[in-house]
Amino acid sequence: MKPISHLFALSVLSFSLLSMPATAAGPEKVATMDRGLWPTAIVNKQEFNRASAAEILVFSQLLDQIDIDSEANIQGFTGIENINAEEVYRWRDRTRQQLLRNYQLACADCGVTDWQSLVSQPLSQTQADNTAWLTASQKFHQYYLYEQVRLAALFPRITSEISLLDPDKEINGTEFPDLHFLLTYDDGPAADATRDGKVVNPTAMLVESLNRFGLHGQFFVLGERLVSQKPAINTYDGQCLGSHGQQHKSHQKWQQWAESLDATTQALVPYQSGPYWLRPPYGQRHQELLDHVAAEGGKVMLWNIDSQDWNKKLTNDEVRDRVKTLMLLWRHGIILYHDVHPRALDNLAALNQFAQQTGLTFVDCHQLTIQP
Ligand SMILES: [Zn+2]
Repeated sequence: MKPISHLFALSVLSFSLLSMPATAAGPEKVATMDRGLWPTAIVNKQEFNRASAAEILVFSQLLDQIDIDSEANIQGFTGIENINAEEVYRWRDRTRQQLLRNYQLACADCGVTDWQSLVSQPLSQTQADNTAWLTASQKFHQYYLYEQVRLAALFPRITSEISLLDPDKEINGTEFPDLHFLLTYDDGPAADATRDGKVVNPTAMLVESLNRFGLHGQFFVLGERLVSQKPAINTYDGQCLGSHGQQHKSHQKWQQWAESLDATTQALVPYQSGPYWLRPPYGQRHQELLDHVAAEGGKVMLWNIDSQDWNKKLTNDEVRDRVKTLMLLWRHGIILYHDVHPRALDNLAALNQFAQQTGLTFVDCHQLTIQP
């Protein structure tokens, strides 16, 4: 027997996704949902797994239903003419495997052994009777599915975090063990800002909070900002520094990408010793860049959980709930925030409490060794 949600989901998909224009800056609509709609508080590992199974199931059923089996269908789904169908198929197959593994971890007693048995699981064993959550979750995963397929369809014409070019020279968080996450912060160091009538530095405040919680995240700084802001040498103590290049430009297209990386590495030296992780802006890179970084003993760190914290269309709580929902879905990985935006600090206490209550581990950046 098929869950009734199949029919419901298909009807929603047909009107919402086809009307989404894709822009250079990213999709028009961004996945977010109110986690308060989930009927119970997620305050222990058991509750985490129950909510995780539910989100995995909703996403898996949508992925099973969308028609991305041909170039024309992918063009129709994404609204993009120049697409790479093979990459979308690879993404789909990889994602199905990941979702299956995740579901087995979330619900060891469910007896799910393959993709078909996963997508035919009844939602009723999660919270299908809770229609407010189900409606919100289906909407979230429709948008998120669109975000993901769009990135895969563009790859590698426009590279991003969606796929690895060279698994020996880069990571994106899918390598992490179950329930392990790394916090990462891009685009700093932030300039001083006025909050509640006081002049503060958002990067310094975030570092202070992370240290207070005993958390050790990875900061990817822009070389030019580091030189112009001149933060105190101890600014990042307790945290890890990496390179985001000199300027916030696509290093896939920028002719001066090598100079940008070398200059940024030089700027990092007084703060922390290398080798350094590199996060290219927008995750855009090419093989030559990966080889260059590897030759210096470094490696590229992408991400698999995009907070969208820069996006002014989302409130602080929507950013937090998007991140929590993606943590429930993927169950491990690298979370992308930006210390130049206030959401990173705003969300931190809630994420830390979420992790502590449910037994998640925030990986210490110092323990991630860069191995060739
Ligand atoms: Zn950036």
